Amino acid sequence: MGTTVFERRLPAPVAIERSLRDTVLDVFWLDDVERPEHPVLSGTVTADLAIVGGGYAGLWTAVRAKERDPDRRVVLLEASRIAWAASGRNGGFCEASLTHGHENGLTRWPDEIDRLEELGRENLDGIEETVSRYSLDVDFERTGQLAVAVEPHQVEWLREEEGFLDRDAVQAEVHSDTFLAGAWDREGSALVHPAKLGLELARVAMQLGVEIYEHSLVRAIEGDGAGPVTLVTR
Ligand SMILES: Cc1cc2nc3c(=O)[nH]c(=O)nc-3n(C[C@H](O)[C@H](O)[C@H](O)COP(=O)(O)OP(=O)(O)OC[C@H]3O[C@@H](n4cnc5c(N)ncnc54)[C@H](O)[C@@H]3O)c2cc1C
Repeated sequence: MGTTVFERRLPAPVAIERSLRDTVLDVFWLDDVERPEHPVLSGTVTADLAIVGGGYAGLWTAVRAKERDPDRRVVLLEASRIAWAASGRNGGFCEASLTHGHENGLTRWPDEIDRLEELGRENLDGIEETVSRYSLDVDFERTGQLAVAVEPHQVEWLREEEGFLDRDAVQAEVHSDTFLAGAWDREGSALVHPAKLGLELARVAMQLGVEIYEHSLVRAIEGDGAGPVTLVTR
């Protein structure tokens, strides 16, 4: 005869509190990377280009600026730590789409969607090329993307796609009864370790001669727009 186990149900808040007791509220990605310290800006520094923010936008701008003109002085000011914000805590999905998906782009920019998709592919190829050229240790993998249909009408949508997979074919990829069909886009997407990407871009920027300051919040931008500007950090 089998044994019956009666589960004693706990009130939800107690169960949640217990299950989270040993957890730490922190960014998973930033947990497994080394984060070199950069100095705090003190005194006055003059630069040809001053960049505010040490996320992907700022770091990639710094790298590109030095690539285009190695002699220009480039300074990057970060209020907190390099890649601590969105760039260090995102999902790591690196997609070619510039419009957050084909459907969204088609609805908003129907006349330009083909060009936008072309530029998106070029952009992802450019990211891959940069990763390879600088040997960025960022776990970059051009995995592609498998779209799946879980409702019959979605099967008809996917049938129009180039990499259409019928029920058997999609289940050979991922064995789940809920998948009725699928479509592979082998080139349109990559995975990347987001925090490593931020930190590796900072490493390359430094190698190219960019000066990086952390804990240096830009509080004001002074200037009349015609001549040089002054960024005030204190
Ligand atoms: C939870 C989450 C999941 C995401 N998932 C994905 C995904 O899977 N794929 C994808 O492509 N995108 C994803 N994104 C979006 C992506 O992470 C962001 O678009 C990207 O990181 C933005 O980079 P950024 O450099 O513009 O901004 P941030 O990384 O936010 O960097 C801005 C930096 O500027 C600094 N700063 C701001 N003001 C000042 C100041 N006055 N002085 C000095 N420094 C300043 C901040 O401290 C910060 O470090 C996700 C975002 C989030 C939050």
